[in-house]
Amino acid sequence: MSRSAHPAGPRHADVLPEGHHPAPPADLNRLDAKVWSRTAARNEDGVVTVGGIEVTRLAEEFGTPAYFLDEEDFRSRCRAWAEAFGADADVFYAGKAFLSRAVVRWLHEEGLNLDVCSGGELITALDAGMPADRIAFHGNNKSPEEIERAVRAGVGRIVLDSFQEIVRVAHIAQGLGVRQRVLIRVTVGVEAHTHEFIATAHEDQKFGLPLAGGQAAEAVRRTLGLDGLELVGIHSHIGSQIFDTSGFEVAAHRVVGLLAQIRDEHGVELPEIDLGGGLGIAYTSDDDPREPHHIAKALHEIVTRECENAGLRTPRISVEPGRAIVGPTAFTLYEVGTIKPLQGLRTYVSVDGGMSDNIRTALYDAEYSVALVSRTSDAAPMLSRVVGKHCESGDIVVRDAFLPADLAPGDLIAVPATGAYCRSMASNYNHALRPPVVAVRDGVARVIVRRETEEDLLRLDVG
Ligand SMILES: *Cc1c(COP(=O)(O)O)cnc(C)c1O
Repeated sequence: MSRSAHPAGPRHADVLPEGHHPAPPADLNRLDAKVWSRTAARNEDGVVTVGGIEVTRLAEEFGTPAYFLDEEDFRSRCRAWAEAFGADADVFYAGKAFLSRAVVRWLHEEGLNLDVCSGGELITALDAGMPADRIAFHGNNKSPEEIERAVRAGVGRIVLDSFQEIVRVAHIAQGLGVRQRVLIRVTVGVEAHTHEFIATAHEDQKFGLPLAGGQAAEAVRRTLGLDGLELVGIHSHIGSQIFDTSGFEVAAHRVVGLLAQIRDEHGVELPEIDLGGGLGIAYTSDDDPREPHHIAKALHEIVTRECENAGLRTPRISVEPGRAIVGPTAFTLYEVGTIKPLQGLRTYVSVDGGMSDNIRTALYDAEYSVALVSRTSDAAPMLSRVVGKHCESGDIVVRDAFLPADLAPGDLIAVPATGAYCRSMASNYNHALRPPVVAVRDGVARVIVRRETEEDLLRLDVG
């Protein structure tokens, strides 16, 4: 780290004008249906409602900042994914995007399966009644305790990520007298982001075993030789916020190549192929995600064609959407605290949360939208940056945004599409109290994860 790092944190906001700001939207009051959850709307007074409840009432009852999750939208997205992929495929919701017991119950009721990647996620899933055989356990360094808990619980599959883990899981399963169903996670040399993907021979990352150089094939050989393991398939996950299925095409081609190699070398045709998650959502009006039925059709066609070419039976397909299910279903509601116009630059709008409830902007340069939601305004658009209240100049929630020029302290603004990787990545930085998640449906709002309290903070600090 640089010696001249700013005392308030090493990461600086770029305060100089960048030259090409996005153009202001034609109508600042309009909620783009692509970006907002399904039941979000403005009522005749200009106040935004979700599940039929005004945000002003929600703020009064639950405080700000807070995440409001549109339950109807969440459930309908689950159904859309399950129906699109049909009976000969499995949809696993990636719990790391956002997990709570209420969410687990909704997933169960809507017929989805669940991916977990830690003991904490596993206990949440089991406690809320998700049948263990519908749970998949992921991760590149599962502890022996976590593995044992998962095997004892009877999870449907463990996704093996290293040579050590093959032996660990086999040993634990054998000790418990069971045969654990497993998949092997391979890296196929495809890295996909948004509109582009890169296909290379090698993949330089911590997850999975590379196809290139034969490590994946060696992992298959070892797994097939162990009594405690039942190898059911190959797993690949190529990236995140992907809009285009061409990256999956290259991945499927390479995974099917391995399936053919396994048939030739071991005489077995593995029954499953898991293509992972990573499907994109609209964070701004510029993003155009594809509907689940388009994605399902494309992936089915790709796998079927590749298997026909290789002379293999088409395996059962699994997918693992996290963001695409929960991302669009929630928004974060903030109250505006201070407003600081910087001549010739932009206006800094400070809210009562920040990087502790949404780290994605600082971490990934993620883009978000924002709107004034407690009222409408006819004022001119004002180039703004929505920032938090943390001691870090990189504490940015929305880097480039247009808000009405008459914005005032006390106004409520909301950032849509914060359902995924916001509460689940939230921190206590500056001893912030992590915000609640409130589920809203048909005029009823209920807390599903409560707001942290100062008591919670002090309870962990044992003096
Ligand atoms: C993170 C992850 C997912 C979910 O990714 P999204 O971008 O939320 O769809 C699925 N599978 C695996 C293995 C992952 O690591």
